[in-house]
This record gives sequence, structure tokens and C-alpha cells, in this order.
Amino acid sequence: MIAGRPSGACLYPIMAKLDLSSGAPLAALTNLAGLTRSELGAALRERFGLDVKQARMRASQLWRWVYDFGARDFSVMSNIGKEMRTALAEQFEIARPKVIERQVSTDGTRKYLLGFGPGIEVECVFIPNVGRTGALCVSSQVGCTLNCTFCHTGTQKLVRNLTAAEIIGQVIAVKDDLEEWPSDKADRQLSNVVFMGMGEPLYNLDNVAKAIEVISDGEGIGLSRRRITVSTSGVVPQMHDLGEQTSAMLAISLHATNDALRDELVPINRKYPLAELLEACRNYPGASNARRITFEYVMLKGVNDSDDEARELVRLLKGIPAKINLIPFNPWPGAPYECSSWERIEAFAEIVNRAGYASPIRTPRGRDIQAACGQLKSESVKKRASELRREAAV
Ligand code: SF4
Repeated sequence: MIAGRPSGACLYPIMAKLDLSSGAPLAALTNLAGLTRSELGAALRERFGLDVKQARMRASQLWRWVYDFGARDFSVMSNIGKEMRTALAEQFEIARPKVIERQVSTDGTRKYLLGFGPGIEVECVFIPNVGRTGALCVSSQVGCTLNCTFCHTGTQKLVRNLTAAEIIGQVIAVKDDLEEWPSDKADRQLSNVVFMGMGEPLYNLDNVAKAIEVISDGEGIGLSRRRITVSTSGVVPQMHDLGEQTSAMLAISLHATNDALRDELVPINRKYPLAELLEACRNYPGASNARRITFEYVMLKGVNDSDDEARELVRLLKGIPAKINLIPFNPWPGAPYECSSWERIEAFAEIVNRAGYASPIRTPRGRDIQAACGQLKSESVKKRASELRREAAV
């Protein structure tokens, strides 16, 4: 827990109503914000005994209110009868994660620390003027197991995977802050979602896939799958499934052109070396010149930024529909690397460009609030269940 901050104990995703006479908890309220369509239908069937057709119709109405209009309350649902609204409020809620901290950079980047219950906190970042209008970088895990040496998140041990509802909750909380309801409003700022925050998304693929299903649904938040990118450090066995299940765009956290260096920078490379990783990229479902794979390459002074490495990068990516994002290293306290000089980055980009690859140099965004690429981290630590119960009771 960050010192001096209120406890992050928001009751999410479910909370119990109390019986007024005995004080005992009544049946738990299920949070609708974060359910898939089929989960929503199943919840309605279970709580109200609706048949499949009735549940589908009611789920459609609720879907629009929750994901298109951003409703937080059943009372605003004007196309649902009053009695039904009351019954819904007795069984369900439409909850948000708790915004524990919100920081705005001088360049307009917004970083949020969100709480999903005792000890479960993650950061996400909204970056304006990226993608069509603006990109939200979401987290998929609290902490990470992978220890990439250039990444601040890698210094935080894994606490747990986020649920699909908690991933969707990040999108909803930021849409609240940007006042982006209804979801199809003409001047919306949030056009892209990238899974590049805390955690390795492919170690939490089921929940990531469910979250993508919800945020890309055209009758709700409605983000195009071509504007949803999942970045992996190289979990080769899950890459094909990601493409098959989600049709999301793929990004690879590459950062080195030989196994010896990549073993050091991205240690999962010891398990899935470059040749296997690049083969999985060649076979990624739907990859084409219109749907290129993005290769992220962080520029580390004297480590991976020579002309020879630029040429080797071009050679390695031959035959893969690719674009290369060069990322000036964003320092964090205690980081063992320095960022390459601007001249070096430009010289590297020039070689890659001349070989015919788009290789934009990513402008660092939100550095002043530690919101830039590889800088995210929360204070969450893995706790025993008994500790969590004790904290929740306070
Ligand atoms: S780069 Fe991604 S996979 Fe590697 S430690 Fe950081 S969050 Fe984990």
C-alpha cells in the first residue's frame, strides 16, 4: 500500500447487502460491468428464471446501458419497467474500480492507479494522439513473473492474474474520466487499446480474450479489433491461440537480435529462443501487409543499438509483415541501463528504414509521471488469504 493513501478496499466485483434486522449479508450482488454477453444472459436466467429468449432480450437492453451509455444505476434505464429495475437492483450492481490515484503529465498523458479490492492495484495509462485519436495501455496481471531487465514492472513479483472484469474495468474507468459515454460519440478520444501495461497477457489469455470480446462488441464500447494490440514477450505456445481467439493485432517485445543478449534482456527467451519466436510470428493468424506485426525494440546505450544490430534486425525479420517501433529507454529508479543518444537512435532507424520497414521512433510520453513504456509498477504484494481477510475486516 502506498504510504498516506486511503485503503484501496473497494468492494469489487461483488459485495453483499446486509439484512437490516440481523446485519447478516444477503445474497451477493453480481457486478454487471465486466460480464460477457453470455455471462450476462446466464446471470439473468439464474437469478430470475428467465428462458433463453427472454434472457437474451433483457441482456441486450442491459448491455447497451452498461457498455454503450456507461450507466452506473438501474434507475436511468428508461426502456426497462420500474418493477424490473427494482428487481435488478436487488440482484446486481454496476460497479467501477476505485480510482486511487490519477496523475496528468505535462504532455496530456494520464496515469491511473486503480484498486480492485484489498491489495489488488494496477496502473493503466491513457496516451492522447496515439493511434487514431488516443490509446489506453491496460494491465493484464498484478506484477509479472518475467523479470525483463529493462522493465520496472518486472521488479514487482506476480500477485495474481486480473479477471476479465478487472481488465474491462480499466477501460470503463478511463472512459468515465474522459467522459466518453455514449461509446459512439463522434469526438471520442479513446480509439485504441494496447495490452502493454503490467504483466504478460499471454499468461492470462482466457481473461484477455474475454475482455477483448467485450470491448470490441459493436453494440457497446465498440473498439475495432484492428485497434486492439496484444504485446507479448514471446510466449510462443499461446501466440497462435491469441490470433485464433481474438483476431487482435500482435506486438512482440523483441529488444535483441541474438539469443545471448535476449536471454539477458527478456529471460523467457531461454525457453522460447528467437528462431521459435519468429517462426510463431510467421504463422500468426491473419498477419499480412495490411495487418503487420509490431516489433518493439527498446534502445539501450551500448547494449543493443549498433549499426550491425540494426542490419541483423532487418535480416531476422525478412519475410514477416512487420513494422518496428524504436523505443527510447525510459529510466526508472535503480534501472541498470541508459537510453541511447538521439543520433544513435536515428542512425539505427535509418538502416531499418532503408530496408523498407516503417520504424517510427516512439516519442516518450508521460515520463514525468513514470507513465512511459516499461515504467509501470504498483505497490501490490502477494499476501496470504488470512492477511487479506484481516485487512478487509478493518
Ligand atoms: S516487459 Fe512485460 S513481460 Fe517483461 S517484465 Fe515487463 S511487464 Fe513483464
